[in-house]
Amino acid sequence: MSYFRALDPLPLQSAEHSKLHEFYARLAEGRLTTTRCRGCGRLDWPPRAFCPECASDAFDWVDLPSDGTVHGFTVQETGVPAGFTGPLVFAIVKVGGLRIFAPILTREPAALAVGGRVRFAPVRVADDPKGAPRHLVAFEPA
Ligand SMILES: [Zn+2]
Repeated sequence: MSYFRALDPLPLQSAEHSKLHEFYARLAEGRLTTTRCRGCGRLDWPPRAFCPECASDAFDWVDLPSDGTVHGFTVQETGVPAGFTGPLVFAIVKVGGLRIFAPILTREPAALAVGGRVRFAPVRVADDPKGAPRHLVAFEPA
């Protein structure tokens, strides 16, 4: 069966497709990491293979805290994509001085509040075209 890449909204996470594949390997281990530029020390989210400040392509991986604070969020109750169950919560979460856009996994979105505590909870999504597992960043109420 052919694989319709255009219908797959999830990033390809293997070394052959992404210079940032180590990010996804750590994500699968339950670690939230990002890149720090070796040239100027800039810490970025999302992880970057190329520094927008000094143009260096040398970077180190840095572990981020697993706890964060809700900076803002929205709840999607209708029009939920196939394969997902609603309601979906999309948030900006403050973690270690960075702002991370990610879903918050909860069945009770009404209990969420700006300033509320959340913890990192990576989620496994559809496998890639070659059957390798894929994970995405997500949080859950703490
Ligand atoms: Zn830099």
